[in-house]
Amino acid sequence: MSAAPAAAFLRALAAANPSPRTELHYTDPFTLLVAVVLSAQATDAAVNRVTPALFAAAPTPAAMAALGAEGIAPYIRSIGLWQAKARNLAALARLLVERHGGKVPRERAALEALPGVGRKTANVVLNVAFGEHTLAVDTHIFRVANRTGLAPGRTPREVEERLVRRCPPELLRDAHHWLILHGRYVCKARRPECWRCVARAHCNYPDKVLVPPPAGAQPARRRGAAPAPEAGGSA
Ligand code: SF4
Repeated sequence: MSAAPAAAFLRALAAANPSPRTELHYTDPFTLLVAVVLSAQATDAAVNRVTPALFAAAPTPAAMAALGAEGIAPYIRSIGLWQAKARNLAALARLLVERHGGKVPRERAALEALPGVGRKTANVVLNVAFGEHTLAVDTHIFRVANRTGLAPGRTPREVEERLVRRCPPELLRDAHHWLILHGRYVCKARRPECWRCVARAHCNYPDKVLVPPPAGAQPARRRGAAPAPEAGGSA
């Protein structure tokens, strides 16, 4: 897909949701960073269930560092990879105190140097907390970009670079949210709901599902296949 239809695709999503927001609950850059770290291989809803108590106990990097991994763990046990995440959050909070005056840095390199923070998490924090024009490619954006022809790529980095090239600059910041929400709720992994898709006219997917299933019908599953994950939130 070239730049013009890519822009038309994104403008269709924009028209349907002019002010998109992350579904993760947070109050400042630190709580956003913690929520995004927790959201790896977990849904935003699951993260939002545990963060109120965690943030009440440790609202700042200093408090989180004081809590330590053992103190953090009981709050996040219902989240996937909770042991590693507890260790990372404790170490990350300590580094924020020691190297950044207790603040979340605005620089990509400094963010990616924090434990548990990769390019995707850094992109989310730069975008949502600091208003930077970044685009974090999660499982939903990767699927939508490839399926629709919007920005095909073999790796999240390839998809990210193509999306950034094809997206009009003024749409780039919100494109992150539009594409995640579109993949989560409409262009779903197992069965895209093309019959109600606002971007359908600009999509190159050859196997569009144009008829909704009968009420109460379960989505078809490939024989022997496990249910497709819809998790993997990242703001
Ligand atoms: S038409 Fe279908 S495949 Fe294309 S973006 Fe919409 S939901 Fe996804």
